Amino acid sequence: MSAEELVSRIAEVAFVTLAAITIVRAIRNHRLVKIHTAAFFALIAAIMLIGWARDLELIAEDELKATALTQMLLVAIPYPLLRLAGDFTGISRLVRHSAEAALLLSWAGLAAYHPEELPSWLVIFIVVYFVGTMTYASAQFMQAAATMRSVSRMRMSLAAAGSLAIAAVIFLAGLRTLFDSEAFGAVSSALVVVAGLAYYLGFAMPGWFKRAIHANHLEQFLAQTVAAAPEIYRDGGLDEIESAVADALGTPDARIVLWNDETEEFFAPSEAEQRVVNNPKSTVGYRVIQTQEPYFTEDAAADDPENPDAYEGSWGRLVMLAAPITLDDRRFGLLTAFGGLPPFIHDDDLTLLQVMANQIAVILRDRELLHEVTEARAREETVRLMDDFFAAVAHDLKTPLTTILGQGQRLQRQARRGQALDQEAVESIVQQAVHMRRLVEDLLDDARDRGQYSGERVPSDLFEIAEDVVRQAPAGKHDITVSGDPAVVPVDAERIRQVLTNLVENAVKYSPDGGSISVRVVGRTDCAEITVADQGIGVPPEDIQTIFERFSRGSREPDRRFSGLGLGLYTCRRIVEEHGGRIEVESRLGAGSTFTVHLPVTDEAATGGEVGYAQTGGGD
Ligand code: ADP
Repeated sequence: MSAEELVSRIAEVAFVTLAAITIVRAIRNHRLVKIHTAAFFALIAAIMLIGWARDLELIAEDELKATALTQMLLVAIPYPLLRLAGDFTGISRLVRHSAEAALLLSWAGLAAYHPEELPSWLVIFIVVYFVGTMTYASAQFMQAAATMRSVSRMRMSLAAAGSLAIAAVIFLAGLRTLFDSEAFGAVSSALVVVAGLAYYLGFAMPGWFKRAIHANHLEQFLAQTVAAAPEIYRDGGLDEIESAVADALGTPDARIVLWNDETEEFFAPSEAEQRVVNNPKSTVGYRVIQTQEPYFTEDAAADDPENPDAYEGSWGRLVMLAAPITLDDRRFGLLTAFGGLPPFIHDDDLTLLQVMANQIAVILRDRELLHEVTEARAREETVRLMDDFFAAVAHDLKTPLTTILGQGQRLQRQARRGQALDQEAVESIVQQAVHMRRLVEDLLDDARDRGQYSGERVPSDLFEIAEDVVRQAPAGKHDITVSGDPAVVPVDAERIRQVLTNLVENAVKYSPDGGSISVRVVGRTDCAEITVADQGIGVPPEDIQTIFERFSRGSREPDRRFSGLGLGLYTCRRIVEEHGGRIEVESRLGAGSTFTVHLPVTDEAATGGEVGYAQTGGGD
C-alpha cells in the first residue's frame, strides 16, 4: 500500500467512525443540529463504504450502479452541511431553496447520463454548485465563530476549515474529470485527512480534548477571580469574572445575579439590564435558587411561559445554563451562562459551571467576612476616638475648674475670716472661667459645624482687637507684645478676636520655656495681615499640612503632654476663610512658629474672593 493510499484509508476510517458517533448521538438526542450533523457524515461514510465494497470486489457486477450511487450521494453532501451552518447562524430561505433546486437538478442530470460519460457542462454545474455551497457554509461557520468564544469559537472555525477543505477536494476532482488527469491525487488525500480531523474536533470533540481546554480556561478563571476579588462588591466588579466564565464555557455571555436572602428577591439589576417580569417566582433563576440544583435549558422562554419577555435578546431562542452560588446555607445568587442557538452548549457543561459557581461563592463569602471585620474595626476605632475625645475634653475642663475651685475655696475661707478680697484670686478665677468658656465655645462651634461661623461684618480696627487680646492673655513667663498700625477691615470682630486669642493662647501653650510672643498688625492696600510669632517648640514639617484640620493634633508623642482637642486652628481657619482670607504657618522645629492671618480689606473680596485671596488655610 502506498503512502497516499494509507493516508486515504486513515481518512476513510475517521469519517466512518465520525458517522457512527454522530448517528448514535442523533438517535439519543433528536435536536436538529444533531440530525444534520449525522446526515452529513452518513453521506460521506456511505460513499467510503461503497468504495471499500468495490475494492474488496464485493460488487463487481454492479460496478456502474455503484458509481452512479456514489455520484448521487456525493452531490448531496453540501446540503446537510448548509443546514448545519444554518443551525448556528440562520440562513436565508432563498439560499436554502436555491441549494435544494441545484441538488435536484444535479440528481436529474446524473440520472439522465451514463455515470462514466457525464457531459462537461454537467460536471461544471455540479462542481460550481458543490464548491459554492460548501464555501458559503464555511463562511457561515466563520461568521458564527466571530460571535462565539473559546471552545465554541474553535469548533466553529474547525467546521469552517473542514468545509473549505472538502470544497477544495471536489474542485480538484472536477478538474481531474474535466482534464482527464491524475494530478493532485496526493493533495486531495491530504485535504480529506485535514477535513476529517477538523470535522472530528469541530463536530464530535472528544471529552478529553474538551476537558483539556476547560482545564486551561478554569486556570484563567481562578486567576481572574482572585484578581477581581478585592473589587467584587464594587460596581462592575463582577464583569471580569463573568467574562472568564463565558470564556471557560464558550458561551456568548455569562452573568452573576446576586440574591437577597431576606427579601427573597434578586438584587435590582441596572436599568439597562431590567427585563419585564410578570411573575418573578416562575423565572428560571428563581427556581434554581429554590431547588439549589444546576439547570440547563435549550429554550428558557419555553420553560417560563409566564415571563415571555424576560429572555428576549438579539439571540432569538435563549439557551441557558444556571447554577446556584451557595456556600453552606448562604445563598449568594446565581451564575448563568447563556446565548442564542449555540448548539455546543450542553447539559454536561453544568458540572463545570457549578464548580465555578462554588468558587465565586467562596470569594463572595471571603469578601463579606472581610467587610464585616473592617466594619467592626471601624466601630471599635470610633469608640476609641470618642473615648480619647471625652478624656481630652474632661481633662481640659478639669484643669481650669480645679483652679477655679481652689481659688474659690480660698476666697471663701478669707471671707469667713473677714479678710480683704484677694484680687489675684479673683483674677485667676475670671481667667480660668474665660478659658473654660472658650473651650465650650469651640465645642459648640464644632457641633454647629455645617453652619456659618461668623456673623455680620462691620469695619473694625484689627490693631485694637490685637491690643485687647494681648492685654487679656495669660502672660505668665512670656513677654507678649503687640506692634503695627491701625488697619480697619470689615470683619465680625468677635470672631476675629476668637482667632487671635486662639493663636496667642497656642503661642503661650507651645512655648513651655517662655520667651517672647509678638503680635503684629500690618495694613496693605488690598489686605491686612496679622502675625503671631513665638519662640516655642515649633511645628514639625510633617504636621504643617494637617494642623488646621478638625481634631488634628501634633503628631509627636512629647507634644501630647499639652492639653487640647485639636479644634482651635480648625475653627480659626473656618472663620478666616469665611472672611475670604487665609491662614498660614511658618515654623522651625525648636525655634518657634509664626502664624499669619490674611484678611481682605473690601467686602466684595471677602464674599467673592476676587483679588487673589486663596480660600485655603495652611491645612489644605
Ligand atoms: P490643640 O492646641 O487643642 O491641640 P489646635 O488646633 O489649636 O489644637 O492646634 C493643633 C496642633 O497644632 C497642636 O496640637 C500643636 O501640635 C500644633 N500647634 C498649634 N499652635 C502651635 C504653636 N504655636 N507652636 C507649635 N505647635 C503648635
